[in-house]
Amino acid sequence: MLPVIGVLALQGDFEAHRRAFDEIGAATREVRSAAELAAVDALVLPGGESTTMLKLLELEALTEPLRRYGASHPIFATCAGAILLATEVSHPAQASLGLVDIAVQRNGYGRQLQSTVAQVELEDGSGQVVEAVFIRAPIIRRCGPGVQVLARYRGEPVLVSSGRHLIATFHPELTRDRTIQHRFLASVHLQ
Ligand code: GLN
Repeated sequence: MLPVIGVLALQGDFEAHRRAFDEIGAATREVRSAAELAAVDALVLPGGESTTMLKLLELEALTEPLRRYGASHPIFATCAGAILLATEVSHPAQASLGLVDIAVQRNGYGRQLQSTVAQVELEDGSGQVVEAVFIRAPIIRRCGPGVQVLARYRGEPVLVSSGRHLIATFHPELTRDRTIQHRFLASVHLQ
């Protein structure tokens, strides 16, 4: 059966994520409740504003269900979503789901680099280059032992995987390149 990719649709650019997965033929569904979460095989945490998303997760009683979901299902998190998955968040510090052992610094590139587009090379042996759109992106300052770096920008990890989860500090949904979505979908098929 075709796996269903859920997209957390509380805040942020969830529509662009959904379109990107629709484009590659995935079955997608928006997720706003614990019941909807339980009905999807994998979940996308979009970019947006992580503090607002945390508040909305609490309001919808989704924080604990999402933490439990992530212990057994694949999550693809971008930008603010990456901040939600991290074990450690700084600048300023805030709560997180702690599902991936990384430390992130919010808005890590500061004012001089509010947003930019860069070419980053995948470190998976393919040598493939993907376009990375950064928007007030976090910087991954530390990766735990189970975390694999898949791409870097200015020497810092920007695409990492940890077990079943995939994390990008940039926005693969905002370009036409679907390499990263294909990669995530393929990993969901393998679960
Ligand atoms: N700066 C935002 C935050 O800290 C993330 C930005 C984004 O998702 N594009 O939550």
